[in-house]
Amino acid sequence: MSPDEAVSDIFECRRCGDCCRGYGGTVVDQADIRAIAAYLDMTPERIRSRYCVLSGTRPVLTQQPNGYCAFWDRLCTIHPVKPRMCRDWPFIRSVLVDVANWRIMAGLCPGIRTDISDGQIIACVKEKIRTAS
Ligand code: SF4
Ligand code: SF4
Repeated sequence: MSPDEAVSDIFECRRCGDCCRGYGGTVVDQADIRAIAAYLDMTPERIRSRYCVLSGTRPVLTQQPNGYCAFWDRLCTIHPVKPRMCRDWPFIRSVLVDVANWRIMAGLCPGIRTDISDGQIIACVKEKIRTAS
């Protein structure tokens, strides 16, 4: 089984948008802001002032009154340049810290399968992080 097949075996996005609502916002770094700015033909400063607020010291994307990310409109309107945090989900390091996090995340994301072994989850997350770096 190839790594890609293994990944698709344990996660398949249903495009429900649940991960684009609430949860304290989407953290963005300078590379994310530059990519979004180029995609929207705006300056990075404009993206920061219009679409970001600080959470502590880190910029996060603003949310609409309904709780959805500023860039959500029945789908992600910046999909080709969506922030690293959105691209990585649900293959994140906290799953390697405690695999139980995978099953907790599944309560928030219907695309995450749970009827699989911890070993398969860890192997897939490791492989996805390795190939994303
Ligand atoms: S909550 Fe999960 S299934 Fe729904 S859009 Fe987000 S990643 Fe996809
Ligand atoms: S940038 Fe796109 S994928 Fe990320 S939270 Fe906003 S709408 Fe969702």
